[in-house]
Order: sequence, then C-alpha cells, then structure tokens
Amino acid sequence: MSEYTEGVAEYVARGEEMAAAVAKRRAIMRTKKFDTIAVHGVYDMQAALANQGSIIEPGYLATAEHFESSDHMEAALAYLMPAWVYARIANPTVYYLEETLALLEGYGFDGEVSAVATASGMSAIFMATNPFLGNPEPGMNIVASARCYGGTFMLFNQRYGVERGVEIRWVRNPLDLNEWVEKIDGQTRFVYAETPSNPLVSLMDVEAVAGVAHAAGLPLLVDSTIATPALTRPLILGADIVIHSTTKSMTSSGFAIGGAIVARHGITTEIGPDEMRENFAMYVKLLPFRDHGPGLSPFNALMTISDLRTLRHRMDVLSESTMRVAEFLETHHQVDSVAYPGLASMPGHEVAARTMKLVDSAGDSGEEVNRYGHLLAFEVKGGAPAARRVFDEFEMIWRATDLGRIKSVATIPAISTHQQQGDEGRDLAAVPPNLIRLNVGGEHPDDVIEDLDRALSKL
Ligand SMILES: *Cc1c(COP(=O)(O)O)cnc(C)c1O
Repeated sequence: MSEYTEGVAEYVARGEEMAAAVAKRRAIMRTKKFDTIAVHGVYDMQAALANQGSIIEPGYLATAEHFESSDHMEAALAYLMPAWVYARIANPTVYYLEETLALLEGYGFDGEVSAVATASGMSAIFMATNPFLGNPEPGMNIVASARCYGGTFMLFNQRYGVERGVEIRWVRNPLDLNEWVEKIDGQTRFVYAETPSNPLVSLMDVEAVAGVAHAAGLPLLVDSTIATPALTRPLILGADIVIHSTTKSMTSSGFAIGGAIVARHGITTEIGPDEMRENFAMYVKLLPFRDHGPGLSPFNALMTISDLRTLRHRMDVLSESTMRVAEFLETHHQVDSVAYPGLASMPGHEVAARTMKLVDSAGDSGEEVNRYGHLLAFEVKGGAPAARRVFDEFEMIWRATDLGRIKSVATIPAISTHQQQGDEGRDLAAVPPNLIRLNVGGEHPDDVIEDLDRALSKL
C-alpha cells in the first residue's frame, strides 16, 4: 500500500468495496435460471435506483468519466479500482452486456468465467488469438479447423500466415481426432475450432479436441456463434475460450455489429504473463484491448442486451422451424444434399445430438430436448448456375450476407462470405460453388418452405 498516497489509498479501499458488491451480485445471479439471467443480468434494483430508477439498463453514450479528484483519477487510471475512465477502455452499458454474456456462457460451468465485448466478431477472434502469437519463433504454428467463417480463414491465412509467418495447420475434417493430434507439436500456440461451422454447419467433438489440446498444454478456442449458449456451452465441454459474433443470433434484430470473448479463469497455456492465464478476458480488456482499440459501441451493446433477453425462446422456436425446412429440402428432387446438425444424415449428427440441447428444457423426464439452431446449407442440383437461379428467384428470403436474423436470409458463400479465399481455400474449407446457406427466420416455416419450393421449381 505504501506506493500510493493516502488519498489514492482511500479510493483503492472504495474500489475493493465496489468489486465485492459486484462479486456478490454475480454470485446471486449464478443461482438463477438461464432465462432469468438473460432478462436481468447483473442490473438490479440498487443499480436502477442509482440510474433514475430506470428498470431497463441505461445507455451511456458518453465518451469519458468525470473524477471526484486527482486521487480518484490516479486510482482509476492505474486500474486500482473499478472505473470506466474512457469509452475505448470500458463503458457501463457494455459492462452490463459483458456480465450477462459471462453468466450465460458460464451457465452450468463449475468455475469462474469473464467476458469482454468487442466491436465485431472478427475483432473478438483477433483479440482472442493475437495474445498467443507473441515472441515469434521458427516453426511457430496454429492448428485450426478449415471449416470456419471466411473472415477467420483470411485472418489466419493472410494476416497471420502470409504477413507474420505463422504456419497455419488446417484441419480438413474436424470430426477426425487424429488430424488434430497429428498437427499439434511443440511450437503450436493454440487450437481453434468453430462448431457448428459457417456455412457448412460442420461439427466437431469439443470434449475430445479439448482433451488433445490440454494434453499438449494448449488452449482450445471455440467459435460458438451458430449454437449460442442457449444450445451449447463449450466451456462445460472443456474449451478454454469461447468466441461469439454477437451480431448474429444474439442480436437477431439485425441492429448491431458486435463480438465477445468469454473465457474461463485459469486457461491452459504456457504463453504470456500470469494475469493472462488467470483471467484471459480481463487481461485482454485491460491491456491489449486498450492499445488496439476494438471497443464495442455502447449503443450496440444496448441493442444486444435487449435481444439477448429472449435468446432461449428464439433458439427453441427457430430451431424447430429450421428442422422442418431441412426435412423439406432433404426430400426435394432438385436438392443434392442438406447440411443441418439435426438431420440423421449429417456427419457428426451423434456429436450434435449429445451436445446441442436447449438449456433448461428438461421436463419431467429430466432430459433436455435437442435443438440444432437456425442455420442450414444445401447444394442445388446442376452446379453453380442452378444455385444462382434458385437464389435469384427468392421473393421473401433476403439475398444478403447475414445470418442469425429474425428474417430468413440466404447467401451463396462461394461468391460472398467465402469469396476472398479463392478456389483452393474453398476446396480446403469444403465450400462448393452450388451451396446456398440459409438462415431460417421467425416467419411461419410453411411460408419459408413455399418460397424455397417455388424457387426450386424454376429449375
Ligand atoms: C459472422 C461470423 C463471424 C464474424 O463476425 P462479425 O460480427 O461479422 O465480425 C465470426 N464467426 C462466425 C461463425 C460468424 O458467423
């Protein structure tokens, strides 16, 4: 304590009280059900009374925090007490989102979890992976599933691979455990997966791959955007860090770009300082984040907080609709194949059946019900031209590079999300040119099926 003045020490003591109050609130919410957490987060009556009584989390759009005194400023800027300081570093509205995300993703996980919100899903992926690539050494590599979002593919291949000399060891079939085992060596920095993946909704066994990564002293990072914590919580399955594009199902209204890193405390890694291992999300937020500047806009945080409240209900209904659409497409004579985790024909369906379950859905039987999300992909017979013709015939399903929406949206990944990675990259990621990716929205499934059926009939 002797290193600061008495005045600063008073703020440090006040900060300890503030932190204790937050910890108490978190502990209370950890005893609540998923929906209750999604609706309330850590915003309680006391917080409301300090905010004009507002029962909804306030949107703090201000850029900076005023301090009581120089002592207060010194304590806050030195991270000696909770404070938000400046909106690139932290923000009260973003804080409410981060606390909710940590509670939802950590739901049912037996350990501490923290979250940091970011300006987009891509910034979450960058901020979650970049800290492991310090002190470059010959042979430095990462092992990642090739079945991943196009932006992730480009970040790893171009930014890390071409520009920084990191060797990217792509796992072609993420369901093949041997591929993961064979690609990991002493110079591997992290193991990365996306499940279900975008656009192929490919699956992998998080539990098994976490076992392999941990045996090598490496962290497993999982992009769980498509599943959301309403269906799967990878931390329970052994993942160290979970990544989200909150832009998608979490903000199904389509009003906000955003992302998040949610990490358990005590991740498996030999890289970086102790603080990074102890609380990765907080480390990222306090240090690299401040310097790289990928903070989430508080307005966007508010949009996401608002949509998150109904996450479980939406994922339930949207998954059921998507199952019906998938079953329709599977039997259509103009469709070559359908990828949807809920279909028995899907490779890895048994992994999905084991791990994709609607949270808190267990009735009298004690068994949670399976729900498989609202993304599917299908190959149209007749190659790329036929896929484009069907795509161009949609009258209700939007043609857009988007997913997670409450409105049905379709894209052709080969000419959109996965265009930049080229033929070779698409071959690696197994993205064929006649693939249509479909996000099934909240419309009545009969109307979605009608639009698909009419478009397919034009072939
Ligand atoms: C969209 C998406 C991303 C990128 O998120 P942005 O919010 O668009 O930056 C990352 N991963 C997956 C699985 C996605 O679908």
